[in-house]
Amino acid sequence: MMRAILVRQFGGIDQMKIATDVAIPTPGDKQVLINMIFSGINPVDTYIREEAFWMLPSLPYVPGCDGAGVVKSVGKLVTKFKPGDRVFMCQTGQMGSLAEFVAVNEENAFPLGDKLNFEQGAAIGIPYFTAYRALFQKANAKSGNRVLIHGASGAVGLAAVQIAKANGMHVTGTAGTQEGIDLVRSAGADAVYNHKDKTYRKKLQNEELFDVILEMLANVNLGHDLKLMNRHGRTIVVGSRGTVTVDPRDIMGSEASVMGVALLTATPDEWSEITSAIVDGIKAGWVKPVVDKVYSMEEAGQAHHDIIHSKGAKGKLVVKIQD
Ligand code: NAP
Repeated sequence: MMRAILVRQFGGIDQMKIATDVAIPTPGDKQVLINMIFSGINPVDTYIREEAFWMLPSLPYVPGCDGAGVVKSVGKLVTKFKPGDRVFMCQTGQMGSLAEFVAVNEENAFPLGDKLNFEQGAAIGIPYFTAYRALFQKANAKSGNRVLIHGASGAVGLAAVQIAKANGMHVTGTAGTQEGIDLVRSAGADAVYNHKDKTYRKKLQNEELFDVILEMLANVNLGHDLKLMNRHGRTIVVGSRGTVTVDPRDIMGSEASVMGVALLTATPDEWSEITSAIVDGIKAGWVKPVVDKVYSMEEAGQAHHDIIHSKGAKGKLVVKIQD
């Protein structure tokens, strides 16, 4: 038996209770059983628990898409991993990473290497994979492009800064606090603005226009983003929490476009491209996940609350599962 956060009903964080009698999963033939050390928290974990996402597990379920730990055992058809390997995972499903053991499909487990610790490993999956998909598979970003990462201090934003800089782009980021601004700059951004500053939109408009914009809060910024794009510019909506008014004329003259991204709809080939690029980035050393705060398993509900409600992001929130 193992400890896990078991959600028996969709709803508030009071549904996130530690159960001590959850059966340790048996890995299937093509699965890897991971002894989880840190679990990563993403906004999608909260949307799922609140039943506000298009893809829901059946009840009861264990939350958590991201995590890192050590391979305990592997199914008989697994070729890429062996017991003792340090790995990170990214998978949605019934039995997530807020548990001492998780069985994941081989294509959802990845080598962590020895440059990063487990805490950082739990901060890779959804943020880095989404940032890569948005930049390359949606925006078709190229070396030399001018990129605006609107909301660069959070988990996806910092990943996007690192990926864009490693691929030769000019990066402008935004953050809502001085600490966030410093962090985005230290991740490699060429210019950083404070999205709480009432004059920042004007300042952005005085910069050269952008080829690519990754937007973390489209309901607030999309109308303005449309005025910031270069000819044939691409704005990718990564996050949005409501509706927004836009002036469609703003993209007519520039023949610019607006597109959504959804990591969880990537095809197997796209998934393979995304995940190989990030694993290569870990080896090369430019994937440097930043952990903002570590929670205990007892505080997992608080982490689910904070990922949506706290202000002043500085990277990713993670939960420590065990030493
Ligand atoms: P996070 O770590 O909580 O980061 C949120 C970011 O939004 C922070 O940088 C925050 O900056 C910034 N922000 C706050 N107010 C803003 C404003 N007015 N203008 C611009 N940015 C603002 O969350 P995350 O994990 O990076 O995820 C970001 C968004 O992407 C979420 O909405 C999430 O649901 C979504 N997402 C979508 C996909 C997909 O497949 N489409 C995948 C992953 C995530 P400060 O805190 O410094 O103000």
